[in-house]
Amino acid sequence: MRNSVGLEKARILDSNDPLKSFREQFIIDDPSVIYLDGNSLGRLPISTADRLEKVIRVEWGKELIDSWNKNWYKKSEQIGNKISKLLGAREGEIIVSDNTSVNLFKLAAAALKYQDNRNVIVSDKLNFPSDLYILQGLANENNNTLELIDSEDEISVNNEKIKEALNEEVALLTLSHVVFKSAFMYDMKKVTRLTHEAGALVLWDLSHSAGAVSINLNEANVDLAVGCTYKYLNGGPGSPAFLYVKEELQEKLQSPIQGWFGSANPFSFSLQYQAETGIRKYLTGTPSVLSLAAIEHGVDITLKAGMENIRDKSWKMSQFFIELYHEELIDLGFKLTSPSLPEQRGSHLTLSHKEAFRMNKALMDRSIDGTKIIPDFRAPDHIRFGIAPLYCTFIEIVRTIQKLKLIVSDKLYLNYSFDQSSVT
Ligand SMILES: *Cc1c(COP(=O)(O)O)cnc(C)c1O
Repeated sequence: MRNSVGLEKARILDSNDPLKSFREQFIIDDPSVIYLDGNSLGRLPISTADRLEKVIRVEWGKELIDSWNKNWYKKSEQIGNKISKLLGAREGEIIVSDNTSVNLFKLAAAALKYQDNRNVIVSDKLNFPSDLYILQGLANENNNTLELIDSEDEISVNNEKIKEALNEEVALLTLSHVVFKSAFMYDMKKVTRLTHEAGALVLWDLSHSAGAVSINLNEANVDLAVGCTYKYLNGGPGSPAFLYVKEELQEKLQSPIQGWFGSANPFSFSLQYQAETGIRKYLTGTPSVLSLAAIEHGVDITLKAGMENIRDKSWKMSQFFIELYHEELIDLGFKLTSPSLPEQRGSHLTLSHKEAFRMNKALMDRSIDGTKIIPDFRAPDHIRFGIAPLYCTFIEIVRTIQKLKLIVSDKLYLNYSFDQSSVT
């Protein structure tokens, strides 16, 4: 076993890590917890806890309704503009609103109406189920056809398949930029270009991309996008999502949900809806102010660290993980079910193993080695390891590989049951 070599290398990599000080900006009470689930729910920044305390005690507690004008009304745009800097969009192209599913519905419906001389929606079988449910509902409602591109290896989709699916019938192509299970990442620029060549619009779901990989929406000429803030942006449980509409499409597309926050003058209480201009027209009703406030510091920290640095560390950590996987795990029935090329991957890695479910339980059990390792299990036999470069360390990767090896070689997984809890 060459663990000591791995450990030594990890120590050097950690001490040379330009982002190492960012870990201190998060609440990490228990260092024996190795958290590899930042791709589902990011950690809590210390400054966010302080900010929420202020929003609750001062802005709400003392200043009451005055806070709407002073602090809250413009927050959705202000945070949207910060997210624009992360994603290579212009000011006024991104706003924080609702959740990802609702935003996907709004933008897909708007795109379909705009392209009503075409009636096919294209997505793929690797997409997040909620996205596919929303698209199925829209297709039923509008008498459209939903076509799902297949993946031969269940890891990735070839650009040729995308090309084949695009024709003059297609109104909209919508995909997860980074696939939730395998972490396969599409070439955003290329796929967007192929979509435009076929006369269709593109809508990217950036839930596993924002804060994880470098993106330039303007450079790729993307039409529409949505994404989460509670994953790599560390916005907290249920924090509202973001949506992006390219500037020149903002007036052409209409939101299907005509709520008062997206109307031209919400406080005129006019009986006739008139859409606001610009990105605000894609809002619906009153935002969840507390959750909205929780996003800002996570985004600030990400901007400060710099997306290039974050991507660079994620890349190095993933390569290190794969190197150790080849040395220690490959002969124990594991299979890497993420792309092997780093440029085709987001920031998590997936391993499959027939005992993945019980193994995931064993990883979380402290009694084995004093660590509680938290990845997540994805049915039927995958374990996802999320690498959040702002707070994950190389040493944590070594410990994870060591524990996996121990669990399998000593058959420790046999001690756990197959009981499924509700949130995995
Ligand atoms: C996490 C995730 C979502 C979550 O959607 P919500 O409506 O915010 O719950 C949507 N799409 C993808 C691709 C995701 O990974």
